[in-house]
Amino acid sequence: MATKIEHHHDLGDFNYGTSDQVTPLIRRVICKNPTPFTYKGTGTYLVGQGEVAVIDPGPPLESHLDDILAALDPDETITHAFITHTHSDHSPLTKQLKERTGAISYGFGPHGSVRDDDPEDRVDFSEFISTEEQEQYRQEFEELPEELKREGADTEFSPDVFLKDGDIVHGSNWTIRSIHTPGHCSNHLCFELQEEGSLFSGDHVMGWATSVVGPPDGSMKDYMKSLRKLLPLDHQLYWPTHGPAIPKPVEYVQSFIHHREEREEQIIGFLRSGPQKIADFVPVMYEKYDKRLWYPAAGSVHAHLLHMVETGRAEVLDEHDEPKLTATYQLL
Ligand SMILES: [Zn+2]
Repeated sequence: MATKIEHHHDLGDFNYGTSDQVTPLIRRVICKNPTPFTYKGTGTYLVGQGEVAVIDPGPPLESHLDDILAALDPDETITHAFITHTHSDHSPLTKQLKERTGAISYGFGPHGSVRDDDPEDRVDFSEFISTEEQEQYRQEFEELPEELKREGADTEFSPDVFLKDGDIVHGSNWTIRSIHTPGHCSNHLCFELQEEGSLFSGDHVMGWATSVVGPPDGSMKDYMKSLRKLLPLDHQLYWPTHGPAIPKPVEYVQSFIHHREEREEQIIGFLRSGPQKIADFVPVMYEKYDKRLWYPAAGSVHAHLLHMVETGRAEVLDEHDEPKLTATYQLL
């Protein structure tokens, strides 16, 4: 019986660009960048009053920055910008935010390794995608503002202040502790808001979906370790960057751990019937999902296989081959 993940989708009534006071210390402004990868869009959090911290400014949309600044009272300023990780829907707007407010940025560091664009090592699911679907995807992409067309790693960002695991930053009426949670991205940080016993969980733990773990920067081994790391911290509530708050997060994280263990079992099940390629079983594993998600899902399956190779449970069929996305794998 597969573990049922009780996802949280309900963001309640919200309007893009309008700030909502969601707790005494937290306001949220949702950016209008909804895509199959970002759910309703990037939720930017404003923390505290007076000297305000921002968590994940968002993609480089000037209009979103206007909305963030409009959320401030006249006597307030943004003094800190905390970045959970360097993906295009989280960090790029930091640059404009700094220019307009003088805020100092805080993050783990610049982006880690980027996957080589090897034309020989790409998965192709186009045979599964109907002409109508392809046309729809193309149109939806065309309609995106130019600023949102570049997705993936933000290799330009570097924080002013490099945070390590456990570092504490004090603000006017808030205290944030950084928790290094590599996996989705090697520089991923979660931020604990000590006054409210809650955690800004970034893309590490989201309510609406599980995280994508894309090698080489994403690592399944790290991701599992980073999920387990959160359990003893026992926070009361998570505020992910996409989607609504997550109540009872410890149970929820447990279900994520089980889900990944089951995904691995599922992969082992496929490989039991003989050596196979990732592209052969992703359409079965992710049958019910938007097919655009199959590409990042292939990355997560690759991350599982790399972890299995590392731990001596699987290998590439051709010993001269690298454990690439398109390699053929078999069980050991
Ligand atoms: Zn994101």
